[in-house]
Amino acid sequence: MLRWFDILRFAHYSNPEPPRRLEQAEEAWAAQLTPAQFRVMRGKATEPPYRNAYCRTYESGIYACVGCGSWLFDSSTKYHAISGWPSFTQPYAKNAMKYSLDASHHMQRIEAQCNVCDAHLGHVFPDGPVPSGLRYCMNSESLLQVTSENS
Ligand SMILES: [Zn+2]
Repeated sequence: MLRWFDILRFAHYSNPEPPRRLEQAEEAWAAQLTPAQFRVMRGKATEPPYRNAYCRTYESGIYACVGCGSWLFDSSTKYHAISGWPSFTQPYAKNAMKYSLDASHHMQRIEAQCNVCDAHLGHVFPDGPVPSGLRYCMNSESLLQVTSENS
């Protein structure tokens, strides 16, 4: 289980090795993604709170990266954080994401990106529920829920 110490270590020193890599030109991403997905995933924008696909949904399944299909979260780690964005306590795998320091918007935050295609996913905060204490605050635009049957 990842804890805040691990996230800080990843962001400050070195991230876990990705299971694979997918890199393509920004023009290719623009063609593949919707404009809203592109703004969030490649432009690091934040979607509006509450008015997003997965803020209030709790069906069981896997959440995959819209960009590359990598599995990012299991629904068993999703919880209601009253933030307006889908929130999770753990990634699907330790190396599913990479982390970096984000000082934009006059805040000190830890950004989470897909470790395979570098898509911006959201931010991680140390105010989640026990036992991990982590809150992965994610953009629905970056996620696609896939059911266990289809995965
Ligand atoms: Zn990805």
